[in-house]
Amino acid sequence: MTAKLILGTEIREQILAEVADEVKQIKANHGVVPGLVTILVGENPASISYVTLKIETAHRLGFKEVQDSQKVDITEAQLLGLIDKYNKDDSIHGILVQLPLPKHIDEKKVLNAIDPDKDVDGFHPVNVGRLMIGGSEVKFPPCTPAGIQEMIVRSGVETKGAEVVVVGRSNIVGKPIANMMLQKGKGANSTVTIVHTATKNLDFHCKRADILIVAAGVPGLVKPEWIKPGACVIDVGVNRVGEKVSEKTGKKIAILRGDVDFDAAKEIAGSITPVPGGVGPMTITMLMKNTLNSLKFKLGI
Ligand code: NAP
Repeated sequence: MTAKLILGTEIREQILAEVADEVKQIKANHGVVPGLVTILVGENPASISYVTLKIETAHRLGFKEVQDSQKVDITEAQLLGLIDKYNKDDSIHGILVQLPLPKHIDEKKVLNAIDPDKDVDGFHPVNVGRLMIGGSEVKFPPCTPAGIQEMIVRSGVETKGAEVVVVGRSNIVGKPIANMMLQKGKGANSTVTIVHTATKNLDFHCKRADILIVAAGVPGLVKPEWIKPGACVIDVGVNRVGEKVSEKTGKKIAILRGDVDFDAAKEIAGSITPVPGGVGPMTITMLMKNTLNSLKFKLGI
């Protein structure tokens, strides 16, 4: 069997088109657009390229986008002051602080200072609590897990009663996606198992999965014989395993591999995400959706 490919690059375009349509309607009916501020401290090249992509996407959707770049020696008090300013700014509906922050700044203190109703990344403890409660309490599901759930739903995979196995228990992927899949409701209602480095018989658990979500950061961790025939496999892992010269630009680029042995796994799974081009493009997409939703919550629509 050759698995159906679940492409983040395609699903991203569907969702962004929906967001752009809603932005146009809200602008016409209410005279406002979603406002997103990104605070970038210092000049970390990976952060700059990620932030650049965020800005391009926000502009494409007709958002108000504020890029607030700060010098690496900004003090913690100054950064907290900035966050306070954007918390009070009515034209801003989403505040994003690009991580990592320099060592002299307490990341937790900064993230916790963001108004939970503008925390479109969904990492504030209030939003983690809302996610745990589920249902209408949820405002901003964290972006990568939200993207994973969209991919599963939009590719027509049945989640109700499905055995979902999540490899990894990080706060940004493993724990939230496990929590989201066990909630009662559409696109969830699954029976969830989380596995990690202390799990005995990793293969036993993976083999039971109707939906296998792998977020370990270990290239090729999941072997093809661990996959149940016909399962949906979501590979979140992004691992740099070398470099190559790009045919397009002639520049050196990273060779990326997922946590699943893709070539062999696609002959067993029913559907599978590739790396790159799978989960990756979904994170910024869901950030845009969360920012739009923040404005909708404010307008009560
Ligand atoms: P993380 O914080 O390093 O967590 C990895 C988790 O996997 C941990 O819970 C760890 O277990 C578990 N794990 C590691 N090796 C394992 C093994 N051999 N067997 C079983 N469990 C194992 O990583 P993360 O932030 O969740 O990210 C995971 C991967 O997803 C990375 O490759 C990252 O680059 C990628 N990622 C992609 C996106 C995207 O595409 N947009 C977003 C976020 C992350 P312990 O808790 O026991 O240590």
